[in-house]
Amino acid sequence: MEERRCMLTDGNLLEAHTWKGLLEISGICVELKGEALLGGAGELPVGVQNVELWVKISQYDLACKQLASLDSKGPQWVCVNCHEVNESSFELCWNCTSEQCVKKYP
Ligand SMILES: [Zn+2]
Repeated sequence: MEERRCMLTDGNLLEAHTWKGLLEISGICVELKGEALLGGAGELPVGVQNVELWVKISQYDLACKQLASLDSKGPQWVCVNCHEVNESSFELCWNCTSEQCVKKYP
């Protein structure tokens, strides 16, 4: 099994999931670890800390570049379904997987 390297410690769950989604789009294998993941699904408290993000050592440099480019990729967008904030690189909401779209009024 390939060795992994920790990219993020003491992150919050939202941040960790945001990064994980972005990296997986880029074909990078990501593993989340942390106390927050021990709880049952659907009852994660807001602002959980101590989440760790691990990637394969061979993909670490690529992952760093992807994360570094986060800030320069345009504005974030807000999901019309659940109102979560998503990075501009996401095509689907990380939270509810709704498509990015502008709400249209008749
Ligand atoms: Zn959503």
